[in-house]
Amino acid sequence: MQNNTDVTKDLNQQVALITGSSAGIGAACALALAARGARVVINHRKSAEAADAVAEACRKAGGEAQCVQADVSRAEECARLVEEAAAHWGRLDILVNNAGATKFAAHDQLDALDSEDFHNLYALNAVGPYMVIRAARAHLARQKGRIVNISSIAGVRAVGSSLAYVASKAALNGLTMGLARALAADGIRVNALCPALVTTDWFRKALGDELFEQVKAAQIAATPLKRVASPEDVAEACVFFASDASRHITGQLLLLDGGLALGAPVSLSGGDT
Ligand code: NDP
Repeated sequence: MQNNTDVTKDLNQQVALITGSSAGIGAACALALAARGARVVINHRKSAEAADAVAEACRKAGGEAQCVQADVSRAEECARLVEEAAAHWGRLDILVNNAGATKFAAHDQLDALDSEDFHNLYALNAVGPYMVIRAARAHLARQKGRIVNISSIAGVRAVGSSLAYVASKAALNGLTMGLARALAADGIRVNALCPALVTTDWFRKALGDELFEQVKAAQIAATPLKRVASPEDVAEACVFFASDASRHITGQLLLLDGGLALGAPVSLSGGDT
């Protein structure tokens, strides 16, 4: 029988690259990994000051940190990001593909999306993770690496901000499963987290405070656990996939939705359930 050592604490000295970690879910993942002793690479596209602040918080939490600016919707910058991280630390153990974008458009308003919208969202949400993984593969293989893709319930249930976003996250989910199979021989595990609404600035900035609060209240009402996720909720699941605690798990798309996707039960009494 194995002892009950907390294997999520075994990240000491491991190097974790988290794309889009100057804010929101990425920043929370970086902090959670740093708190377990990981050396984290904080990536941003334009928010340098915010990235520096996250790096400082990670150091205070017990880890070490490096900041690298790179736009991960661009293939050549994905390669440079990995090169700079590996050159600085000499290894790469964990990759969290978190950077993402959306465009809001009602699903029945087909004219609200053009082909450029699809290409832009694919470039960051699906092609970017592939290009970072491609660049990181050899480094990760040396460490029996772990890849965590921050996807969305959108890619599983076809809900969310727009059909272009839905399609891009479904593509990321497909990549997660395909790469899990393809990279298993290298000892690399690949999993995805698929949250419903998370309380970052993502929705608040797009919708404004009032509408955001309404959407949040509606989501809480429809969710069996009667809550929405915080960035820290996602980060704890990320630590699980990034650590040896999930050593026999690869190719999984984990819904992080408080039970939202379960839907309401069918009433057997004729009244409300
Ligand atoms: P935020 O808007 O709070 O943060 C986005 C982060 O990504 C920032 O650090 C931003 O940095 C960075 N970023 C954006 N574009 C790029 C780019 N081209 N290259 C590098 N970094 C970039 O978003 P969230 O934390 O809410 O979302 C993170 C992920 O979680 C996304 O993939 C999203 O799809 C997913 N998700 C979010 C949900 C939510 O409700 N918030 C629900 C389900 C999934 P900078 O400012 O420097 O550009």
